[in-house]
This record gives sequence, C-alpha cells and structure tokens, in this order.
Amino acid sequence: MTAPQDPASGSGSPFPQRGGPIQVFYAPPEAPRRPMISHAEGIYMWDTDGKRYLDATSGPVVSNIGHGNGRVLAAMAEQAGKVCYASRALFENQANIALAERVAALAGPGFERVFVVSGGSEATEAAIKLARHHAVACGEAGRWKVLAREPGYHGATLGAAAITGDPETDAVFGPVMRIMPRVPAPFTYRVPGNLDAETHARHCAEALEAAIRDEGPDSVLAFIMEPVGGLATGALVAPDAYYTAVREICSRHGVLLIFDEVMSGAGRTGRFLAAEHWPDARPDLVILAKGVAAGYTPLGMVLAPREMVEKVVAAGGFLHGHTYSANPLSCAVGEAVLAEVMDRDLIGNAERMGILLGERLQVLARHSGIVGDVRGLGLLRAIEIVADKTTKAPFPPARKAIARIVELGLDRGLLLYSRSTAGGRYGEWLMITPPLIVTDAQL
Ligand code: PLP
Repeated sequence: MTAPQDPASGSGSPFPQRGGPIQVFYAPPEAPRRPMISHAEGIYMWDTDGKRYLDATSGPVVSNIGHGNGRVLAAMAEQAGKVCYASRALFENQANIALAERVAALAGPGFERVFVVSGGSEATEAAIKLARHHAVACGEAGRWKVLAREPGYHGATLGAAAITGDPETDAVFGPVMRIMPRVPAPFTYRVPGNLDAETHARHCAEALEAAIRDEGPDSVLAFIMEPVGGLATGALVAPDAYYTAVREICSRHGVLLIFDEVMSGAGRTGRFLAAEHWPDARPDLVILAKGVAAGYTPLGMVLAPREMVEKVVAAGGFLHGHTYSANPLSCAVGEAVLAEVMDRDLIGNAERMGILLGERLQVLARHSGIVGDVRGLGLLRAIEIVADKTTKAPFPPARKAIARIVELGLDRGLLLYSRSTAGGRYGEWLMITPPLIVTDAQL
C-alpha cells in the first residue's frame, strides 16, 4: 500500500518531517514553547540557556527525592549491569522481591502483597481488575461498578478514565468507555449552599451511600478516592469524620475501598501512606506511583491484603499483566528511592517542612488579594486563586489567570503546576509540592 502524500513535505508521511515545525506528538498549537531541559540537581533544573529553575512542584508531584541522587543512579547502573529485563512469565527477579518486601513492611498490616506495574494509570487498572477478580472468586460476579468522586483523577487509560470525574474528557471519550457512577468530592472552601465544611462532607458521604443503594449494592465492586486530593481537587483534605463514614459505608455494603495514593503516597504527606492519618478508615487496596520511583524510571504498584490475593490465586491466578510488569530496572530504582527516603528521614522532613510550608502559605494568603484558600497535608499543598476573596468568585476563564501565573513563574525561574477546572466549575489552583528533600531556606 502506498502512503498518502503529505502536501507539506512531499514525503508521504502524514506527520511533519524531521526539521519540520513539530517533532513530538503533540504540542498544543497555542502553547508557548517551553524551555529545553539540560540537566537537574536536587530541587533545581537548568535549561540549555543556563537558566536555573526551582522546582516547587516536583514536576507533577513526582521527583520526591530530587534529581541526580547518587545512590539511585548507582543502583540503576548496578541493576542495568546485571539485567534490565526478564519476562515475569519465565523468571522471578530479586529486585521485585526486595521492593515488594520493603513496600509491604512500610505499608503495614493489610498490605502484604504488592503488584508492580509501570505507572499510576496501570496501577488503577490493576486495582480494579484485582477487585473484580476477587469478587468473581468469591462468587459475587454481579459486582462490577466502581464509584468515584467528581472531580477526581485516577489516570488516562480508558478503565481509569471511566472512573475519573471529569466532564471535559467524558465529552470526548465517553462513547468508548463505560462511565461509572460518581459522587461529589467533599470540597471545604467553595461549599454548595454555604454549608459548613463538616455538614457538606457528611452530605457527600451520604451521597455515596445513596449512590450505592441506587445502583444496587450487589452490583457495586469498589469506591475509589484520593485520600488527600491531587490536581483534580487541589490537595483537598476532607474533615476527619468523612473518612470514617466512607469506610463504614463501604464495609456495610461489601464494597472495597480503594485509596489512590499516586500523589499522596510514598511519604509526601508526612506518612508513608496518607491513609495513616485516618487509622479508622484503612482502605482495602492502595495504588502508588510517581514518588515511589521519584521519576528515575516509570513505576507504579497495587498494595493488597494477602487473603485477597490468595483467593484470586486459588481461583486460577490473576488474569492481568503487562510486558513491563515488575521490570527489574524500575524495581531496583524504586527500592533505592525508598531506601533513601527512609535513611534520610524524608518522611519526617515532609511532615516538618509541610507544617512550615502551610504556615507560610497562610501568610501569603493573608497578604495576597487573590489567594482564596490554602489546603493540603505535609508537602502536598495547594493554593486556590480567586478574583474576589469575599465572594470566592474565580477569575473568568478568558483572563487565563492561572496560566499567566505559571508563565510568570517560568520567567522568574520557579516551576509551578496548576489546574483550571472546566469553565471555572470548581475553581483553579496551584499545587505547591516541592521534593521531600526541600529545606527551610528553599521553602
Ligand atoms: N492517580 C492520580 C491521583 C494521579 O495524580 C495520576 C497522575 O497524575 C494518576 C493516577 C495516573 O498516573 P500516571 O500518569 O502515572 O498514569
């Protein structure tokens, strides 16, 4: 078959040629050109013009131990020198075992089994499939619905997108996935009906129970939520009673509770798992990614209780996997990253620096005309930007306020990470999530 002719290049390729205007798939046409990365060290990054940037957000909440960590680079080289890839169908690998043992020990009782994949979306998919496989193994094949919060974010693959509360992406991808039922996220700042945050959170928990009843409890498999919100809610922390209520509701209806800790896990909130802040609300499954390998290699995982996995294994084995599941190189990196986190007490640093950061952002909010709210836990914080602090009205989308702040940051050597929700529906915010190695002076 002959390739169609590309009028621009005459080469026959539907994509621009080398040297053409766009070489990567894809750059939004209106986006300004980004600087070209040269190298990075600690919490700083340099572009090829020699300009230095302070990374106030760890990329998208990834680079927990900063860049250029010698121990991780050495572990990477050592593992690469032994073996980079070995099929899981044919070999066990020591790096996978060491990583799983460390994670299980850090996560504590109820998380004895660790299934390793290549990132957050894959981990979400694996958690849903494990939950489903377990239901089938228990004779509850009628359970398949996964309830989630709106807004929320659990990944970009179709299964994860189906439980990602985002009307913008539903509008495009809805027809190719089975959108799952959603319940409201318990926002604490812009609360409907001007209720106090506790009452609103109670209503949100009640909405979960009502949704389970409406759907038919025997058809509901799981409820997934970010215990401390990520970009979708701007580091939302619900009132304590919400977590306990959600746990009780899930238990009452035999629904598994899944915590998506892709952003909040691996020490970021001052605990290995954010779940530890609410011991009465222990989830059944946890998803980790991002900070667990801190950006050195792609890595994600599902933490599950021994009994759940044994049930699935007894029923014939987990019908799921990827070519790169339990990749030895990524596992060795994850193990080295967590060793560094523990040996340098970076979880303790996240707690201490998180308190300072929270206090300083409150000072910023007092002095700034546009910082409406400061929220979060540990080094997972966000500031919400508003046009009017009295009415809490967001900036009109046409002002592109948040995009402008990010641009100003880039100009001045400060890397920021922002969210402007669909048409200002929920508000807009900046994540303030520096690496866990951040110092008082750098804050
Ligand atoms: N879950 C949460 C809470 C996230 O923040 C993300 C990514 O931002 C994901 C899941 C998906 O992870 P990944 O982009 O590694 O697939």
